Amino acid sequence: MEVQIAIERYLLRCGFTADLKSGSEGGRVFRGVLDRAGIDPIMVLIWIYDWSLSKYPVIYLKEGERYYNTVSAHINWDRSLCYIAPGEVVLNAFAPESAIELCLETASRLISRFDACDPTLLTDYRDEFNAYWSNDRSRIYAVDGLVKSHYHLHIDNVKERGVWLVSPNRKEHNHLYEYFSNGNECFTAFSGAFVITSEENWPKDIKLPLPENLKEFLEWVRINSPKSLLSLVRLLSLSIFWERAYPTVIFKTQNHSLAAIFKLDMEFIESKKLTVGSLHALGGFRLYVDGNPLVKLPMIRCNVEDASVDAVYARNGSPSFQGKNILVIGAGSIGGFLVESLAMVGAGLEEGCITIIDEDYLEIGNLTRHVLGVDDLNRYKSEALQEKIEREMPYTGINGIVGDAQQNLNFEYDMIIDATGQEAFSRWLNREHLSHLMKGGNTPILYAWLEGEGTAWRTLLVDSLDDHACWECLYIHGKDGDRALRFPHSNEPVNYRHVGCKTIVPYAATAAMQAAALACEAAVDWYQGQPSPRFRGGHRSGRVYEAFSNRDLEKQEGCLACSKT
Ligand SMILES: [Zn+2]
Ligand SMILES: [Zn+2]
Repeated sequence: MEVQIAIERYLLRCGFTADLKSGSEGGRVFRGVLDRAGIDPIMVLIWIYDWSLSKYPVIYLKEGERYYNTVSAHINWDRSLCYIAPGEVVLNAFAPESAIELCLETASRLISRFDACDPTLLTDYRDEFNAYWSNDRSRIYAVDGLVKSHYHLHIDNVKERGVWLVSPNRKEHNHLYEYFSNGNECFTAFSGAFVITSEENWPKDIKLPLPENLKEFLEWVRINSPKSLLSLVRLLSLSIFWERAYPTVIFKTQNHSLAAIFKLDMEFIESKKLTVGSLHALGGFRLYVDGNPLVKLPMIRCNVEDASVDAVYARNGSPSFQGKNILVIGAGSIGGFLVESLAMVGAGLEEGCITIIDEDYLEIGNLTRHVLGVDDLNRYKSEALQEKIEREMPYTGINGIVGDAQQNLNFEYDMIIDATGQEAFSRWLNREHLSHLMKGGNTPILYAWLEGEGTAWRTLLVDSLDDHACWECLYIHGKDGDRALRFPHSNEPVNYRHVGCKTIVPYAATAAMQAAALACEAAVDWYQGQPSPRFRGGHRSGRVYEAFSNRDLEKQEGCLACSKT
């Protein structure tokens, strides 16, 4: 309340008046004059609806004022000014007067750029052109750049979300590419959407109104690139373009791609007394003949988003494990989160593959600790995991094997990750691995496991026989077959739970996520040529996270596994 009063007083002092009628949606509207930064005064409305100022006040040009009917950078469709880049400026509600003054000042500076016809406005306009171009929720995700035709994005409710996919069909592509190649302009045809490439930056001019129908579109394209207009007119004379209900043109320009989807529905065809199948006869240069009904064809302006591998993985820095074959043993809690993490960092790309082997199926008790959910109950985890990753991350090569890892083990992988967390299995695997290395093999194994009741998570990389510890080196063996961890986190006994003849160690999903994250990072480091430190971990005592000294571990003298090899 204090902030609101301070802001209102300040605006009144600046000559604004409160608009009593228009505050119905919450907040208040003020009318007044922007006159900072040496500009000619200009009337605006300021709508403040968030008095904490975490949402910026909205400043609208007043009807009849200069620029009110202008298409420009930083003027939104509702005549509000885009005067602050979101996230860049934080308004301080503890100093409301200076916060509001900052808004008036910044908005005035924007107006002064308009007044001066600042050429950088065109650059800004191009940068944010997607925001202006789109007049529909539709999106085209261009998945091209893919080599295989079966790599589609699998998305449900395609129509409801207005998602259009541009999927490459090589045959069609090559055929039309040859047909249409035209200097540096070329067509690339996909199913239903035709791409015209332009070497220029679009749009050419900031004040150009955006097209609503085919006629306006032709004019808009002409101004941006006469050469592209020729390509477009040729395209419009082809029957193949008019075969589908929503013929689509995508202009791939230097700075972005944009699409025009024409609404060629039966309603339009009947209202204009057109004949399906002969629309192309009205296309081409006939479009410039007076009275051609096709020019009234309404269009959807739709943004095209790059959905290529590079774009999808862009926020990862650069993806890891491309072309690598990774075997993950165990699709339990750790294995599930691990496979998902590996896919997200890029494993399985470029002919690489994540193979998961597991023989269990998903049970009720798994639900709260597993990356899979109710949909996959009573299915084999490895198969369900494969389907989940294929559905959500379609660029990932993945293969789920149902079976026993001991019977199916081979070392023909770039890396093997043991995510079983089962001591007996890991002991067996370690012996097999040491003999693989003895015979000159070089496949590394990364072990990931939890200790205690999920209070400690560990990974160990075994990548050579030379200097470093094997998995067994982590155990001290007594005389009667008793053994203990060499580096125990805690000596607290674990409260095992017994369900039928199964033994369950209670821990929360978060413990498995910690182990999976640790393993994924260790694997990425190995991929990047930095296997050290090979022994890593983290743990907590109650609410305290304690430091674990990650290190390369030396062999244990007299290790039952590696000292005898
Ligand atoms: Zn803007
Ligand atoms: Zn050893």
